[in-house]
Amino acid sequence: MIVVQKFGGTSVKGSQRLQEVAKWIIKTKNEGNKMVVVVSAPGGMTDSLIEQAKEVNTNPKGRELDMLLSVGEQISAALLAMGIEELGEKAISFNAAQLQLKTNDEYNNAKILNIPSEKILENLNNDYIVIITGFQGIDEEGNVTTLGRGGSDTSAVAIGAAINADKIEIYTDVDGVYTSDPKIIKDAKKIENISFDEMIEMADKGSKVLHCRSVELASKYRIPIHLRSAFTWEEGTWIENGKTMESSDVRGISHLNNLANIKINLKNMDELVNHLEENHINVKSFQQLENSEFSILIKKEDALRFYKVLKKIGCSPKLTDNLSMISVVGMGITSNNIPKKLTKILNLNDININSISLNETSVSYVISQHKLNNANAIFHCELFK
Ligand code: ASP
Ligand code: MG
Repeated sequence: MIVVQKFGGTSVKGSQRLQEVAKWIIKTKNEGNKMVVVVSAPGGMTDSLIEQAKEVNTNPKGRELDMLLSVGEQISAALLAMGIEELGEKAISFNAAQLQLKTNDEYNNAKILNIPSEKILENLNNDYIVIITGFQGIDEEGNVTTLGRGGSDTSAVAIGAAINADKIEIYTDVDGVYTSDPKIIKDAKKIENISFDEMIEMADKGSKVLHCRSVELASKYRIPIHLRSAFTWEEGTWIENGKTMESSDVRGISHLNNLANIKINLKNMDELVNHLEENHINVKSFQQLENSEFSILIKKEDALRFYKVLKKIGCSPKLTDNLSMISVVGMGITSNNIPKKLTKILNLNDININSISLNETSVSYVISQHKLNNANAIFHCELFK
């Protein structure tokens, strides 16, 4: 089998961790697999590089920021290759430029265009463990790009797709995807299997355990992801299709904090879309109310900025902030009574619902942020007790 193992920042922070990871990779190779390993920067390094950049420039250019941010991954890759060689196995590290891993030129949020597989496959055939920097790419001109925070997961899946890997193992500091955030809900349970669509929905609605784009890619190329811990090495959560079809309708609960709602009257939708695009605002949910009144749910920081812009051009926006969105995810959730039941529970517990949205895999409620933990606890108790 060809296995891609991806190690997150905390898994490769410090020499002791690197040595443990090196041993694990060799163990997996000795089970008869060809090994490609994708690494993140050592934990905390990317944040600290961003801070350093801000100390010398309040608004650094995307190109220079990517030139800086990409170095963390290169440190992990080289150190891990050395650590593996020390244990007597052959290893070779590559960065994006060496592999010609091409992206577009959207700095800080680049999209992967192409990954040539020859060099990787050739080294695998020569019995090397191939270590690749996550998160980074190069554009057509050879400028360094990065894929956006958390983007190494997406690198791993894209590389897996390029070389036709049999599975992607993503190692992190938690041992799987949980039915709710285990930091908030103490009896949250580890989910053993979740479908691609459900995981995409969990990530989109706030679960931070995987980069959303990585799951979209894995779904497109039908490569299973096994998300697991690099500390306990236990079985984690499998993200793939087919295992959850007949099981319960509800998979998990996700939430997003620090949201705000803006209501405005505008001539038409085009006008709103133009304003949103000009101000680079990503909308979480959207509703058209009566008399060309529009309601949008966006990040609070974006809302404060957008509110000022709208006032300046003579609109009278109405802003409500300190909102959260709590979402219950599960395939076919709309075809049973769950949304109805959850709405009733919120009402019974005096939790005001700002808005509800539904799609095939989730039902979401916008509520006041200070009621979030309460709503999370009662939902979890009702659905997973
Ligand atoms: N090092 C990058 C980050 O911290 C990419 C990653 O870890 O996935 O966002
Ligand atoms: Mg991550």
